[in-house]
Amino acid sequence: MPTIFSKIVNREIPAEIVYQDDRVTAFKDIHPLAPVHILIIPNIEIPTADDIQPEHEAMLGHLFVVAQQVARQLGIGESGYRLIVNCKGDGGQEVFHLHMHLLGGRKLGPMLAPKE
Ligand code: 5GP
Repeated sequence: MPTIFSKIVNREIPAEIVYQDDRVTAFKDIHPLAPVHILIIPNIEIPTADDIQPEHEAMLGHLFVVAQQVARQLGIGESGYRLIVNCKGDGGQEVFHLHMHLLGGRKLGPMLAPKE
């Protein structure tokens, strides 16, 4: 069963794709939390950060290069941005297809909400 993000990679469901190559795809988050909120994903299905294998190293390095490129493309290279990867339940992961959030376009505040 393909993930919803695989369907975006394969253009089976719509998304605003801002970058795509043979290894990764970047598209706008459907519920943006900042003026710029992009998801950058491997085209292959890796469920979580905990499932990363040594053979994924080069592709994951490429994910960061694409994040930098997309940040510059969208005008936040100079002002700065945050890259987030949520992993499993306590990490707040909702979609089990590894993805990096690229957030920017405003001051993002503290990295974590204070402990309640
Ligand atoms: P997570 O909590 O797993 O790190 O983040 C999943 C993100 O995927 C959320 O920010 C959510 O808004 C986004 N998302 C979920 N479904 C879709 C979708 O169908 N299209 C797009 N563009 N984003 C989605």
